[in-house]
Amino acid sequence: MFPLIKEILSMPGDFRELAVRGWVRTRRDMKNMVFVEINDGSCFNSIQCAFDRQTGRELLEQPGRLGTGASVEITGKLIPSPSQGQAVEIAAETITLIGEAPVEDGGGIRAYPLQKKRHSLEFLREMPQLRGRTNSIAAVMRIRNQLAFGVHRFFQERGYQYLHTPIITGNDAEGAGAMFEVCVPQEAREKTAFFGRRAFLTVSGQLEAEAYALALSRVYTFGPTFRAENSNTARHLAEFWMIEPETAFFCLDDNMALAEDFLKFLCRLVLENSAEDLAFFEERVEPGLTETLRQLVQTDFVHMSYTDAVGELEKVTRFEFKPCWGCDLQSEHEKFLTEEIVKGPVIVTDYPREIKAFYMKQNSDGKTVRAMDVLVPRLGEIIGGSEREENPGALASRMDELGLDREQYSWYLDLRRYGTVPHSGFGLGFERLVQYVTGMVNIRDVIPYPRAAGQLY
Ligand code: ATP
Ligand code: MN
Repeated sequence: MFPLIKEILSMPGDFRELAVRGWVRTRRDMKNMVFVEINDGSCFNSIQCAFDRQTGRELLEQPGRLGTGASVEITGKLIPSPSQGQAVEIAAETITLIGEAPVEDGGGIRAYPLQKKRHSLEFLREMPQLRGRTNSIAAVMRIRNQLAFGVHRFFQERGYQYLHTPIITGNDAEGAGAMFEVCVPQEAREKTAFFGRRAFLTVSGQLEAEAYALALSRVYTFGPTFRAENSNTARHLAEFWMIEPETAFFCLDDNMALAEDFLKFLCRLVLENSAEDLAFFEERVEPGLTETLRQLVQTDFVHMSYTDAVGELEKVTRFEFKPCWGCDLQSEHEKFLTEEIVKGPVIVTDYPREIKAFYMKQNSDGKTVRAMDVLVPRLGEIIGGSEREENPGALASRMDELGLDREQYSWYLDLRRYGTVPHSGFGLGFERLVQYVTGMVNIRDVIPYPRAAGQLY
């Protein structure tokens, strides 16, 4: 295999012969020399290739042929760079144009849309097929990759087994969000439906993960999740990825500790392995980002009950929605709590049962459940979870109160009928995590192809 630019940049400039392949970022023409910057997405930096005008003359002298976006193979010697800011560069000998990227409209093809200037993220969102070639989106995707790898490492090191839960489901994971329905055209809702009943895209793998946690003790899911949210916010997608660990014999305190360790592990990983990309986000997107991540790694998360949180929020007058006990915390409340009151990550626990799902373990006060939401500055909720109701009687009567069909959930009640144990879990929205770590404001810019209300490319 030929080396990636990431590898070449860490080699000594010992005049070795090598080939580099990638896409032209910029080209600067001087009197005797031409400098071409090549990027292959393997790392943030590009490699500079210096051409003597005599070399590859034919190619260099046709203006446009080597414009931004063109793909090339360049051979030459790796030498110590005389220029500032880079250790090595390539004294180029040959250049082969693999694929041209026109600089001007013509022949039915538009000019390459990503010219040297800075483009807005809104503009780039219209072309997910090309935006990966920009500094910002490429950096996001490298960090996303780092985090995905970290998720598996974290759980695998702790004895968790990776579980693939269904994407098409008949369960509605009560209350998690509006569902997309899956059907064959024409057959929708008829008795002849493909599955013999209505089917949906999953909003959470939790219920199925619970079944396997009560078999394998520790499991986690990491897969696509779908919610028909019609809200046009910067934190919601219609298709996103969620990580859901589910642990047998875990109470809420264990679950909170796991969530805290998990976030710290992932932030540390990025601080250690993605320094160049982070430096870019620090400079261009979110000043203070690195310090925020360091702080998160070093400080204990604050714990606060929902009741105390509402008490604190009631003292504040500037909200659009007045906080009140029994109402769901609005995004403005969550942000205020974490940004102004706690000034860091906070885990809010013990929410009123009326605003949470039926499966959450009920507290003895008869009013609240053992729920936990992890809130972070800039985003608000990043994790939602709970201890699950493991008592068969308590679960069944809560379902009756809510008018849920016991027949439909019979399989779920089986988990309490046969060898029930206390267990807990949570869901982390993967894109919210990528947003947090990169400072990117809009969730549509941290997933390769965003699917959201009004957006399907
Ligand atoms: P929110 O109140 O922010 O809409 P939620 O309470 O509906 O979230 P949960 O059902 O608790 O979310 O899902 C667990 C996690 O999944 C959330 O903490 C969040 O990180 C993420 N998440 C939920 N909905 C979305 C979405 N539409 N797009 C991206 N991530 C999401
Ligand atoms: Mn939630």
